[in-house]
Amino acid sequence: MPNVGNSIFPVMTGLANQYNAVNLAQGFPDFGTDPQLIHLVDEYMKKGFNQYSPPAGVLALREQISELTFNRTGRRYNPETEVVVAAGGTQALGTAITTFIREGDEVIIFEPAYDCYSPIIKLNGGIPRAVELTPPDYRIVWDEVKKCISNKTRMIMINTPHNPTGTTISKSDIEELIKITRGTDIIILSDEVYEHILFDGVEHQSMAKYPELAERSLIVSSFGKTFHTTGWRLGYTLGPTELMKEFMKVQLFSVYTNNTPMQYAVAVYMENYPDKIMELSAFYQQKRDYFRKLMTETRFKLLPVSGSYFQTASFADISDEGDYDFAVRITKEFGVATIPTSAFYSHGTDHKVIRFCFAKKDETLQKAVERLVAI
Ligand code: PMP
Ligand code: GLN
Repeated sequence: MPNVGNSIFPVMTGLANQYNAVNLAQGFPDFGTDPQLIHLVDEYMKKGFNQYSPPAGVLALREQISELTFNRTGRRYNPETEVVVAAGGTQALGTAITTFIREGDEVIIFEPAYDCYSPIIKLNGGIPRAVELTPPDYRIVWDEVKKCISNKTRMIMINTPHNPTGTTISKSDIEELIKITRGTDIIILSDEVYEHILFDGVEHQSMAKYPELAERSLIVSSFGKTFHTTGWRLGYTLGPTELMKEFMKVQLFSVYTNNTPMQYAVAVYMENYPDKIMELSAFYQQKRDYFRKLMTETRFKLLPVSGSYFQTASFADISDEGDYDFAVRITKEFGVATIPTSAFYSHGTDHKVIRFCFAKKDETLQKAVERLVAI
């Protein structure tokens, strides 16, 4: 991959550590997961569940995932053939792309796009066709999408709630997606890792809710986001049997199987504490609102956010620098690390928008904003 450099996340986290900055850059919580969940992992390790699990994942976990999805979307995925556990969302996305993308296939992505999409598409010989979303609302312009569709279009990647913008797609976006894909064999790869983090009563538009889309969709989720465990590397993919059958072959010979005791622990936890997931949106809405309120004391202009744990902000009133230079400088000079959103565009941008992660303790957010007011 000669044209691929480092990912922006370890770069900014490295700088944050080097300059002892508050790290609002990389998206991970700085608070722990539920001790009950830790206790369950401990229990399953001590009980001896430390060997290979089935390549598609521990059945009890696949059953819980299926049940949760049914309750939230009304679609029942068969735990035996339509649910596959992954080593995090990244692996699930990579495996899906490797399964279906071949030399010359085109994949429509929306930029800003999460940074792993393009490299893996290209590694498989695919061609990313980027449709640009622009601030402040980052809405999808469907006429632009239509212009990119051709007989080479193999896949459309959707991400809702969206990283880095924190926007969510609406029912009318879904209608457009149905229209545009009807009668084609386009596969939708839907990155829904922030599906349980939604604000102000916004409804999650999962592909699973719409039979016409669900039949052509692979849906990816991540327990890292849902249970504050990004280091556990646990997620999953859902899809119709005939697509998952192919997906499973790639999983089988690249990943084979995932962490066994954690799968058992998460399965039992989901069964015993079903409300935990339902409480996640309220938990993060409190954080979003707290952070936004603190940020009114700064010169940053906050953009709207309806899901995920990211807040974007314009610094156009503060500096003429490019967002990367600005983000690096404020890390070094003011001690707050953020992510420049141009890193999510294949040809960069000059939008002057950076991303803050608010999945942090209140005191961390407070400490960061005390520094940001000085800018
Ligand atoms: N997709 C998006 C949009 C993400 O933000 C992330 C995590 N940052 C992932 C996928 C990957 O999730 P995981 O950490 O489970 O690999
Ligand atoms: N998903 C997180 C983010 O967007 C972290 C990603 C990573 O470290 N690869 O910040």
